[in-house]
Amino acid sequence: MTYIVKDACIKCKYMDCVEVCPVNCFYEGENMLVINPEECIDCGVCVPECPIDAIQADTVDGSEFWVEMNQKYALEWPRITLKGESPSDADEWKDVPNKFPNHFSPKPGNS
Ligand code: SF4
Ligand code: SF4
Repeated sequence: MTYIVKDACIKCKYMDCVEVCPVNCFYEGENMLVINPEECIDCGVCVPECPIDAIQADTVDGSEFWVEMNQKYALEWPRITLKGESPSDADEWKDVPNKFPNHFSPKPGNS
């Protein structure tokens, strides 16, 4: 089992999750974060830290896509351990549904 980040995180990136992870397994893209499923120790500490419930267990139905997506980009993006600046328009994006097809960026983050 692991935890993964879903597309609710896109363009929100509040980053309250990263500093609580005991194994530093969050990775930063240009507009969202992912978890490395190989490194996550399933502690669940990050889940209540995310204000928009973007983090969920892989036992939830339909998680296969997100496990693969998190694994792929965790290997391409830089590790992030400190909370950075959220985009100024993050609040406007937090309730937008199904952001992956139209708003996902595969570019690495740079904070
Ligand atoms: S707190 Fe939630 S929305 Fe923010 S970066 Fe972490 S997973 Fe993404
Ligand atoms: S569940 Fe625990 S180990 Fe996994 S990403 Fe969240 S805080 Fe890190």
